[in-house]
Amino acid sequence: MNYNNIFSEIYKKIENTDSGKVASYIPELSNVNSTKFGVHLTTVTTKNFSFGDANEKFSIQSIAKVLALALAYNLENEKLWKRVGVEPSGTAFNSLFQLETDLGIPRNPLINAGALVLSDILISHLKKPKKEFIAFVRNISGISTIDYCPRIVASEKSTGYRNTALVNLMKSYGNIENEIEEVMDFYFNLCSIEMTCQELSKTFLFLADYGTSPFSKVKILSKSKSKRINAIMQLCGFYDEAGEFSFKVGLPGKSGVGGGIVAIYPNKYSIAVWSPKLNKRGNSYKGIKFLELFTTETQTSIF
Ligand code: GLN
Repeated sequence: MNYNNIFSEIYKKIENTDSGKVASYIPELSNVNSTKFGVHLTTVTTKNFSFGDANEKFSIQSIAKVLALALAYNLENEKLWKRVGVEPSGTAFNSLFQLETDLGIPRNPLINAGALVLSDILISHLKKPKKEFIAFVRNISGISTIDYCPRIVASEKSTGYRNTALVNLMKSYGNIENEIEEVMDFYFNLCSIEMTCQELSKTFLFLADYGTSPFSKVKILSKSKSKRINAIMQLCGFYDEAGEFSFKVGLPGKSGVGGGIVAIYPNKYSIAVWSPKLNKRGNSYKGIKFLELFTTETQTSIF
C-alpha cells in the first residue's frame, strides 16, 4: 500500500480544522510553531512513508514514559506491579487525587505519578541513570543522536509544582526510594527527549514486532512484555481520553504535550504524528483527527 498518497489526502481534509492550544504551562513548549504537522509510518518490513514536517525534532514528552516502562519492566519483571497499577485512571495526566485513596500507588505507569515511580525505579537500578537510559533509547532506535533537551528540562523545573507535589505525596506513602530532587531531575530529562516523527516511529517499531526491533533484530522485550505494554498503551495512553482514542482510532498509542502521538498496529506498522495544538485533555487535536481518518481509510484498527 502507498501510504504517502493517503497521508496527503487525509491532510487536505483536516488542514483547515483549527482547534486547540499549544501547551504553555511548560513555557519553553509554547515557542514552537503551532502550524507544524508531520507524520511518519514505518512498517515491520522496514518500509518508510512520510508527510509534512516529519523530519523536524520536537519534544516527545510523555511518549518517553513508554520507553521508561520498557526498561523498568525488564529490570523489575513482575515485581514492578507492586509499585504501579495497570488500570486506566480516567483522570488528567497530572492528577493527584487518586493517590490518596490508592495509598501512593499510581493507577498506571503512563500518568505522571506512574512515570515518577518508574524514574525512581530506574535510579535505584542504574549507576548513571540518565546516561544509561539515553543509551537504551539509542539502542532501541539505532539512532545515536537522540538526546535530552536541557532548555526543556530547565523550563519544566521552573514550573514543576504539580509533579513535585505528586512525588512528595508518593514519598509520604513510601513509594519513592530516592531523593526527591534526583527523581524530579530524571523525570524532567525523560520528558525532554527530542525526536522527529521518523525517529519516533522507528524507535517504537519493536512494539509492533513482538518486542524485537525489525531493523537491528535486537530483542528489546519478551513477546509477553511487549504485548502487555501495548495493552497498557491501549487502556492508559491518553489519560481521560483513552476510551475516545480507542473508539475513534482503535490502536494502542501514546501522546505527549509536545503534540506528538505514536500508535502501533501489531505485526504491521508504527506511526508517529506531530501537531502541537492540544485539545482540553492535553492530546494533539489534529494528531487524533488524522489517525482517526487514517485507520478508517486503511482499515487498520486492531478491532
Ligand atoms: N513533562 C510533562 C509533565 O510532566 C509531561 C506531560 C505530558 O506529556 N502529558 O507535565
